[in-house]
Amino acid sequence: MFEQKLTDQSLLKSKGLINGEWVSADAHKTFDVFNPANGECIATVADLGAAETKRAIEAANVAMTDWNTRTVKEKSALLRQWFDLVMANQEDLATIMTLEQGKVLAESKGEVAYGASYIEWFAEEAKRIYGDILPSTTQDRRSMVIKQPIGVVGAITPWNFPNAMITRKIAPALAAGCSVVLKPAAETPLSALALAELAQRAGIPKGMINVIPSKQSSEIGEQLTGHPLVKKLTFTGSTRVGKILMAQTAQTVKRTSMELGGNAPVLVFDDADIDKAVQGALMAKFRNAGQTCICANRILVHSNIYEEFVRRLTEKVEHFVLGDGLADSSTMGPLITRHAAEGVAELVADALAKGAQLTIGGALNKGTGFFFQPTVIRDLDQTMRLAKEEVFGPVAPIFKFETEDEAIAMANDTEFGLAAYVFTKDQSRSWRVSERLEYGMVGVNETAISSEMIPFGGVKESGQGREGSKYGLDDYLEMKYVCLGDI
Ligand code: ADP
Repeated sequence: MFEQKLTDQSLLKSKGLINGEWVSADAHKTFDVFNPANGECIATVADLGAAETKRAIEAANVAMTDWNTRTVKEKSALLRQWFDLVMANQEDLATIMTLEQGKVLAESKGEVAYGASYIEWFAEEAKRIYGDILPSTTQDRRSMVIKQPIGVVGAITPWNFPNAMITRKIAPALAAGCSVVLKPAAETPLSALALAELAQRAGIPKGMINVIPSKQSSEIGEQLTGHPLVKKLTFTGSTRVGKILMAQTAQTVKRTSMELGGNAPVLVFDDADIDKAVQGALMAKFRNAGQTCICANRILVHSNIYEEFVRRLTEKVEHFVLGDGLADSSTMGPLITRHAAEGVAELVADALAKGAQLTIGGALNKGTGFFFQPTVIRDLDQTMRLAKEEVFGPVAPIFKFETEDEAIAMANDTEFGLAAYVFTKDQSRSWRVSERLEYGMVGVNETAISSEMIPFGGVKESGQGREGSKYGLDDYLEMKYVCLGDI
């Protein structure tokens, strides 16, 4: 089926990449990749294991030494070349993404450009890894700080952004001088392999980017967290798995970056521009069928505008067209698996049983594909699972509040702290509320807050470390203090 849809079929890879070679699993095991829009198998991919991962780590360690004999300008040019190739192949990469992940094609194209922006950004930032000269305590000494690559990086990524979650890790790693062993999600390995193929074509040397497609996630995770040559683990995924990986990395005291779950609140005050708030909540909720870690998970609306907000949001949601992401008419695709869609249905059922009301949607679509109807549900309270758990589906739960303090308390009443959004026209309130929200990122009158130029990341159990921006390289660098004596 891919054959008719891609301009360049050689972007479709079904093996792992170790030290520049496309390899099958030692045991010749494979796993299937499915199209969530119809449940059909679209590819069979090599299912690599611990031994292959170990070889990849060793190759990455060798490659890194050679990489760091190059000038920063050469490294930067190679990254730039990779960026150019990703953008030149945007259509094909988007098609691959929609087929394995389900999101509508326009969103896939957007993600490819967004993912590529990290490569472009870090190609530029590679030239700005500065050290420091420090004041000395005595006349005969000089003290300085130099920044060095941390070492081989293990990266584990999720299926919801099969391209951008990878480039956001690999681009800063390479810019900082580190090589990478990547385990992409088993649901979406094809996007990862196509990106690696383009990196090869760009001239990124063998062994700098190794990709381990695998169904055996814990086995691969144990290698990446336990192998002494891996100096840093970067992970995007659930808080549950993040905690397991952090515990494992403790054995060899590795540095970690963790981009974990979110439970983003949208606070809509009665002085807000309601049109903007409805549009912002809509975008933040339903992008990628609600499967993003910064998706609006709880919409908190002041009682004075509650009825109007619910009505207007519901009217907008009526216009969604659910369908195969490759069809021009579709505005929202399926969820990643049947299991995911059933989990969303359970959260909705729990809320309804405890007194919440549906205004639209609420059910799984019958037939093939893992579609859940775009849903608005009102009159939520803190006893319901939707108040506490990340829904990861197209369900907009709307809560009511009376005062600013109450809204902030509700917003912060979660172990998560990734993104939060506020709608108000009051300048003082936007400062006050932004400062009191316990989140790594706050959007005021804006929900499309992410880009390569900002530090993306969370606090509390949403993780640690930041991706993108001038801060994004820090996670891949060690600071070394050098003292020159006898001057
Ligand atoms: P999601 O809910 O987004 O699927 P997960 O945390 O389950 O989040 O998965 C994110 C990534 O972590 C995927 O690549 C998955 O294969 C991987 N993963 C899941 N469990 C483990 C584990 N025990 N060790 C290492 N990686 C894991």
